[in-house]
Amino acid sequence: MIAYLNGSFAPLAQLQVPVLDRGFLFGDGVYEMIPVYARQPFRLAEHLRRLQHSLDAVRIANPHSEAEWTAIVGELVAQQDFADQSIYLQVTRGAAYPRNHAFPADSTPTVFLFADPLTTPSATLLAQGVAAVTQADVRWLRCNIKAISLLANVLAKQHAVDEDVAETILIRDGLMIEGSASNIFVVRDGVILAPPPSHLMLTGITYDLIIELAQQHDMPLQACEISADELRAADEVWLTSSSKEVLAIVTLDGRPVGNGVPGPIYKAMYAHYAAFKTGVMQQ
Ligand code: PLP
Repeated sequence: MIAYLNGSFAPLAQLQVPVLDRGFLFGDGVYEMIPVYARQPFRLAEHLRRLQHSLDAVRIANPHSEAEWTAIVGELVAQQDFADQSIYLQVTRGAAYPRNHAFPADSTPTVFLFADPLTTPSATLLAQGVAAVTQADVRWLRCNIKAISLLANVLAKQHAVDEDVAETILIRDGLMIEGSASNIFVVRDGVILAPPPSHLMLTGITYDLIIELAQQHDMPLQACEISADELRAADEVWLTSSSKEVLAIVTLDGRPVGNGVPGPIYKAMYAHYAAFKTGVMQQ
């Protein structure tokens, strides 16, 4: 598997970063995960825009122009021997000595990318939906930054694994925020409800696409705060992310969501999503 580190492509197993890299010592960096279908990066411009936003928020100068990023990603995609890929892209503030919380005066960002085979949900999972649990959101107040410091998300996801479900939905001050690694939509009385973007959640590239698709297909959608009680009383609940795409949550904390099967609005949205994806792949 060929990966990229600071200007060079090489087999992943051969790449090394210094132990003083601030990504390793402080989790001082940001990342993106870009899905690639049939060797075509999906929504790359949007991912690069969010990367810029994350870099600005943590005050790391973007080491590359959009054209350079596009070329690096293109080359990485071409180097793999599998066509559907999940590209992980990470920029840290780089290595610095001595160890000091404050920014070093002159560090060079570390840029690392690698590709994994993309595994999207199986037809069975799409048809049956998945289970989720809820948990208190104990993360910091800048969850709109796609930061590599993910310990709270890691613990929340492990909670899902321990509970034998697909996702943990995070609740803060009585409001549904997002999943440990996904955004959450709710359907009530035929209307899709989306929690409004804020510093408390990561605005997913898939989240934005779902909103676009709802508009394109005249599906009623409202951005509004969703309480934990409203989540539990929802007719449908979906999770979205670049790798999970759009997946119905049919059981929440052991109780059925709506009728306990993927709902009609989910099915319509998934069809629009799949058609959009196919359209992009044919371009
Ligand atoms: N929220 C969190 C916390 C995430 O980690 C992710 C993706 O990993 C998302 C939302 C969904 O974002 P995207 O649709 O860009 O994959």
